[in-house]
Amino acid sequence: MNRNSKVDFDKLPYKLMLSENELPSQWYNLRADMKNKPASLLNPGTLKPVTFEELSHVFCDECVRQELDDTTPFFDIPKEILDFYRMYRPSPLTHAVFLEKALGTPAHIFYKFEGNNPSGSHKLNSAIAQAYYAKKQGLTGVTTETGAGQWGTALSMACAFFGLVCKVFMVKCSYEQKPFRREVMRTYGASVVPSPSDTTDAGRKILADFPDSPGSLGCAISEAVECAVKTPGYRYVLGSVLSQVLLHQSIIGLETAAACEKFGIDPDIIIGCAGGGSNLGGLIAPFMGRKLRGEKDYRIIAVEPASCPSFTRGRYAYDFCDTGMICPLAKMYTLGCRFIPSPSHAGGLRYHGMSSVLSQLYDDKLMEARSVEQTAVFAAAEQFARTEGILPAPESSHAIRVAIDEALKCKETGEEKTIILGLTGTGYFDMYAYQKFNDGVMNDYIPTDADLEKGFAQLPPMK
Ligand SMILES: *Cc1c(COP(=O)(O)O)cnc(C)c1O
Repeated sequence: MNRNSKVDFDKLPYKLMLSENELPSQWYNLRADMKNKPASLLNPGTLKPVTFEELSHVFCDECVRQELDDTTPFFDIPKEILDFYRMYRPSPLTHAVFLEKALGTPAHIFYKFEGNNPSGSHKLNSAIAQAYYAKKQGLTGVTTETGAGQWGTALSMACAFFGLVCKVFMVKCSYEQKPFRREVMRTYGASVVPSPSDTTDAGRKILADFPDSPGSLGCAISEAVECAVKTPGYRYVLGSVLSQVLLHQSIIGLETAAACEKFGIDPDIIIGCAGGGSNLGGLIAPFMGRKLRGEKDYRIIAVEPASCPSFTRGRYAYDFCDTGMICPLAKMYTLGCRFIPSPSHAGGLRYHGMSSVLSQLYDDKLMEARSVEQTAVFAAAEQFARTEGILPAPESSHAIRVAIDEALKCKETGEEKTIILGLTGTGYFDMYAYQKFNDGVMNDYIPTDADLEKGFAQLPPMK
């Protein structure tokens, strides 16, 4: 049964826009509707659930409250954050008519585009929230890590807005591959350190063990956390994985659901790329909420790189969020915190673990996951750029790949499915990767089972 049989798709506008006054004024906390709650973060010393007090040394107070709250369904978005959101939200939900035509598919494809803000990705939605709460608490600075640079860029911009000092530990291979990304952050006023660095104990330890380490998000997180807890007036902020970040990113899904309602459509399939899980968790939140409450059903697909397959080949276990093993333990699908993925071109997806919220939903079989190889991802990116015009981020292109694959399946079966994909950002700082693809010298690295076993062998013993 086609749930959109009454919709005349030819009559829909190209962009299903909400007006500014339709911007949601609350975030939605998906955890409130989960019967099986995500497992608590644990103190690695005592293996007891972390307390507010323990976490508040690392994160600012309001963010800790949000992190630990599994029951409050809605959080008001403070006026200062809403004012900032108005700079670039609501973001468009676009009908990919040109892509559909090129594919010759009966499917209807829509993309929620989060790359139309100055920082170029969805990360700004949480950066502005975390910077605001830090400022409101009277803190002077924040530290963070960045992989591909999108989070660092978003946070630098948010800190410039609120007058906070921002120190970014940038994964070394990205720091070298993307010097202009670094300069964007410096222009917004941040200081940027390649990680592993010799400025922290965690960095020095990794350098001693692996002098040529290309770095990883897990390692940069250890450095940023250490720097924050050792600097008075500083806290650490994280751009993904944490439940508070998914909460902030729910703005993506709430707008998507509102636009669907306004224009009378309902998706069959929702697809997003998954690094730490924040954009996907945000995009699916209201839809998954309906599914959990038994109101509607949706197929939800998380897409990850074959080089860093946390969902599709990882273990569901307690693990450290960082390589230095100083952060709390989170129960998640993980490749092991010492797993260093090959330096693929989707830096934002090179994280060993996955949001504990999404991990629980995946374990409960409420969503699916698929892994895709890099050259197939860039082929999809190219097709998208040539039809819809937007040059997508490599991370986002993972979702495009699977959306195209699903649309091609519809072509075979004649099914008229409605697909929504999360287009998380633009790829203008990834031209080195595009160059490799255009020159035909991009490779597909897939870790062997033996590679993965090494990561699993280092999972913390839970006794
Ligand atoms: C960081 C990033 C991602 C992946 O992070 P999630 O937390 O999984 O959303 C995806 N796309 C872009 C453009 C990013 O910057």
